Amino acid sequence: MSTPANNDKYLDQTLRPDNWGDYIGQESIKNNLKILLGAAMEREEPPEHLLFYGPAGLGKTTLAHLITKEIGAQMKSTSGPAIERVGDLASILTNLSPGDILFIDEAHRLNKMIEEVLYPAMESGALDIIIGKGPSARTIQLDLPPFTLIAATTRISLLSSPLRSRFSGGTFRLEFYTEKEIQRIVARSAKILGAELAEEAAAEIAKRSRSTPRTANHLLKRCRDYAQVHGDGIIGIDSAAKALELLEIDESGLTANDRRILEILIEKFGGGPVGLQTLAAAASEEEATIGEVCEPYLLQLGFIERTPRGRVATPRAYEHLGKMAPHPQKPLL
Ligand code: ADP
Repeated sequence: MSTPANNDKYLDQTLRPDNWGDYIGQESIKNNLKILLGAAMEREEPPEHLLFYGPAGLGKTTLAHLITKEIGAQMKSTSGPAIERVGDLASILTNLSPGDILFIDEAHRLNKMIEEVLYPAMESGALDIIIGKGPSARTIQLDLPPFTLIAATTRISLLSSPLRSRFSGGTFRLEFYTEKEIQRIVARSAKILGAELAEEAAAEIAKRSRSTPRTANHLLKRCRDYAQVHGDGIIGIDSAAKALELLEIDESGLTANDRRILEILIEKFGGGPVGLQTLAAAASEEEATIGEVCEPYLLQLGFIERTPRGRVATPRAYEHLGKMAPHPQKPLL
């Protein structure tokens, strides 16, 4: 039977830390937030608006939940693509209670019209609504209850600069995690899932987790399944290594798809530079998948570089794929 803890769909919720002690890493962000939240609570005001950015699965949503809990608020949650019309946003904003947290995930997918309604709402707690059309159109202003907007995005560069500047509480970039931190995260997750996990197996999962807690938790679950089917249910180093091999995740954490993208960059485009759009077309892959899923980790590993003319494979990428890197061209003169 599918129970929340057994269903991947619920994995994030099941394993989401609900106290700061269990939220491992991101020390600088945590320290800054504690001061900001402490000061706001002392003044009995909602904290100022916050923006979290960084690759998927690094803990942005979890931070929003922890903040909500810390200040004893309620969270209303939505996402950029879910707010299609100004009316959708107006309905969300007018239904807020004083002190609520409004969490908007994928904020880079908010359209311009929505952004423009959001500015005054964030700045002065006012909602400007235009009624009617043409010469008889008029604007009415509604006062909103004090609230805190927490936005999360994987693509901060797509947020307009007026919107970015409205996050008066701060803009925080989440960092990839160290192997030690991920090891602690999977050890905690294994406990919650009731699985026995050997230390070396936790280290192996950490090594191949793309430095990302969500990926690590998914790998842990797959390793648990493997240990259950092929062994005694205990996740030891041997069964973890076999499970990860079956998933085609290599020792650097690259998936088969990451390697395919690198191969195409090297084989079809001579290592680049090539634009994201062209690379995506050649790989029959969505631009967003390459830009948001593959690329951040390949950049982090130093396998590709982003140049003004496009993406370039580095000698490290050639080495990883067992290919000869081209020698840099010597100037003729
Ligand atoms: P994002 O919103 O950045 O995509 P989430 O906040 O949904 O990421 O995190 C994905 C999952 O990873 C969470 O459910 C949680 O289990 C785990 N996670 C993320 N950050 C941490 C952390 N710092 N410590 C422990 N677990 C974490």
